[in-house]
Amino acid sequence: MPNQQKPSAIVPLGTAPSGVRTLLPNAPVFEPGWVWLVGAGPGDPGLLTLHALNALTQADIVIYDALVSEDILALAQPGAALVYSGKRGGKPSPKQRSISAKLIEEARSGKRVLRLKGGDPFVFGRGGEEALALVEAGIPFRLVPGISAGVGGLGYAGIPLTHRDTNHAVTFVTGHMAGGEVPEHLDWASIAKGSPAIVLYMALSHLGRIAELLMEAGRDPHEPVALVRNATLNDQQVLETNLADAAADVEATGFKAPALIVIGDIVRLREGLDWMGALEGRVLNPDPLGKADTRDTA
Ligand code: SAH
Repeated sequence: MPNQQKPSAIVPLGTAPSGVRTLLPNAPVFEPGWVWLVGAGPGDPGLLTLHALNALTQADIVIYDALVSEDILALAQPGAALVYSGKRGGKPSPKQRSISAKLIEEARSGKRVLRLKGGDPFVFGRGGEEALALVEAGIPFRLVPGISAGVGGLGYAGIPLTHRDTNHAVTFVTGHMAGGEVPEHLDWASIAKGSPAIVLYMALSHLGRIAELLMEAGRDPHEPVALVRNATLNDQQVLETNLADAAADVEATGFKAPALIVIGDIVRLREGLDWMGALEGRVLNPDPLGKADTRDTA
């Protein structure tokens, strides 16, 4: 029977002929006039969700941010308009209000509007602001969460966000306020005291000041710090340093944004968990915290 699908065939999305497996059965249909606010993950297209892929294959227009990679945009259906709305190459970013106005205008004209943002739209991404503008304008929307860079990006660097021997809490912090200033009004002393692991987004240019505030609040100058640039992409780079030297090391090595900064003993686990390094021959240490003799086996 020449036209029969092989039973093992997998159709990624939507409905499929009976006997064919579908990775996302009953994938939602992108209706005209809707905005889908979608997280693209940290960069590696393999970290897109099936809902994000489903959105890309149906959208008429994709309005995307600076940190969305070309490889991800290439998954949009042929003919979809790709509209850039972020900061890149030093060009000023469009005002947030004008991005929201564009989403509303395109949806009102009857398009399927995909607003594609790096990581997760609701994590330091202004997704909440854009969604509220849609609500105010009466535009229906759907939210598709993505893997935030501070989670997936650190995974690719071999740094777990929590580990029983190091921390039971983690804090995500932005190092950059809307006007570009250091977020001094944050309670850095409480963060320093309360959170053994700190993950900073958008903090590269203020790292020196932030490290100072944390040390003033009692954090050990020798505490390990890792910076991860272009996390999950082919040119991912990791710089390991410590709180006292971090800013000088960034300067000396010319380390550039976009970068995540992670502070805490979880960074020491990288010696055992740098699975990407292992692909290139790094020998991993199964006991990076030196706990072999003392581990509680409970
Ligand atoms: N909504 C996004 C964050 C947007 S803020 C998310 O959930 O991930 C932009 C900041 O995210 C950057 O300044 C950088 O600190 C971080 N970031 C995003 N993608 C990154 C990547 N691939 N590598 C390193 N940092 C990244």
